[in-house]
Amino acid sequence: MATATETALTTTKRPNGRKPLPAPNSDFYGVYETLNADELAIVKQVRTFMETKVAPVITKYWVEDAFPFELLPAVKELNVGGLGMQGYGCRGGSLALLGFVQMEAARVDPSFSTFLGVHNGLAMGSIYIDGSEEQKQKWLPPMARFEKIGCFGLTEPLVGSGASGGLLTTAKREGDTWVLNGEKRWIGNAPWCDVSIIWARDVADNQVKGFIVENKTTPGFSVEKIQNKIALKVVQNGHITMKDVRVPEENRLKGGNSFRDTAKVLKMTRYAVAWMATGCAMGAYEAALTYAQERMQFGKPIGSFQLVQDLLAKMLANITASQCLITRQAQLHKEGKLTDAHAALAKAFATAKCRETVSWGRELLGGNGIVADYKVARFFTDCEALYSYEGTYQMQNLIVGKAITGLGAFV
Ligand SMILES: Cc1cc2nc3c(=O)[nH]c(=O)nc-3n(C[C@H](O)[C@H](O)[C@H](O)COP(=O)(O)OP(=O)(O)OC[C@H]3O[C@@H](n4cnc5c(N)ncnc54)[C@H](O)[C@@H]3O)c2cc1C
Repeated sequence: MATATETALTTTKRPNGRKPLPAPNSDFYGVYETLNADELAIVKQVRTFMETKVAPVITKYWVEDAFPFELLPAVKELNVGGLGMQGYGCRGGSLALLGFVQMEAARVDPSFSTFLGVHNGLAMGSIYIDGSEEQKQKWLPPMARFEKIGCFGLTEPLVGSGASGGLLTTAKREGDTWVLNGEKRWIGNAPWCDVSIIWARDVADNQVKGFIVENKTTPGFSVEKIQNKIALKVVQNGHITMKDVRVPEENRLKGGNSFRDTAKVLKMTRYAVAWMATGCAMGAYEAALTYAQERMQFGKPIGSFQLVQDLLAKMLANITASQCLITRQAQLHKEGKLTDAHAALAKAFATAKCRETVSWGRELLGGNGIVADYKVARFFTDCEALYSYEGTYQMQNLIVGKAITGLGAFV
């Protein structure tokens, strides 16, 4: 976030009165300078929150597979609910601002950024994109204030990448009520949140429809926390079971009438995951660079060795390429030109480059690279989930492949 000038002035102290070293700065090409002053102020506020409130406690929560509920009051004050959405009590702002905020959050903790992405992007985004005016007015204001937390249930135990080809969860209309039956797997925030967006196949027309379900008060709706994850351990993922869950017609998303409408939400969240992956790589790079400046071997900081500098330069190049790509992605959205294939390419590229980057960071730390207290290990494993969720690397490339060849490789 520091400009080139600020970076030159910000230095890392060195022992014995030696010349200070430059502080790690993962914004090498100055992409933060594309934000206006108001946006930059919000992003700085998020950085301060992440560094002062989240960073000190997050490793403990990550190791314990637990969500930091103690931080929710401060999250509410941060006022980032509904970023990128206009009206309905949402924070508003551009999609660029949304992206920078997701990137900033992931720079300290990809789990925290994912929590925001699931609530804001997937849950609120479904209502914002596919909900009726009444549904937006009812649900978005309390969600923007984080009074009601949301999740998004698309993936099933037996249907992951193939969601567009048919869901096994069914919705059957009975008068003014819908009856949902089935299971959802991997659903972020589900074990504790208030509102689930459930995507199910209408048995009457075989089309995917979206439903707003109130988790805690709906009979037949149960959630089991997925245990023993090795990535994004702070996010609580749930396995949802629905047995004759009755949802009123007024809770059916009025604009969610086929998988195409679900895909409109996924386009925007893939957009955001590209930013999150870039933030994850930035966090790993900055931690690795700090380590390289401090860790001594052969009587010198390891950062003075050519092969270590090579690792750092390659990490920074990956980050810079991703930052430039996603900043252009934001411009495309602003110009009304962002396609599914644009978002898919950005998600695939940024997550793949993140994977490469965090692995070089882990390598740079030697043995300490596999210890959670040294930060990089957390980014290293968390990246694995970013790479696969919101549509795997292969599925993103197939979306791009269809756009460039005109030939679909899947349904
Ligand atoms: C931490 C985490 C959080 C998540 N959060 C949510 C959430 O909140 N809500 C939600 O609905 N889902 C969520 N997911 C689910 C996620 O979107 C799926 O894991 C993802 O879409 C892949 O599905 P799958 O795991 O069933 O893998 P599969 O679909 O079984 O894929 C397995 C492998 O086969 C490959 N493959 C499949 N089909 C093809 C093909 N046609 N061509 C080439 N390769 C193919 C895949 O790329 C992959 O490598 C989450 C997942 C994780 C890990």
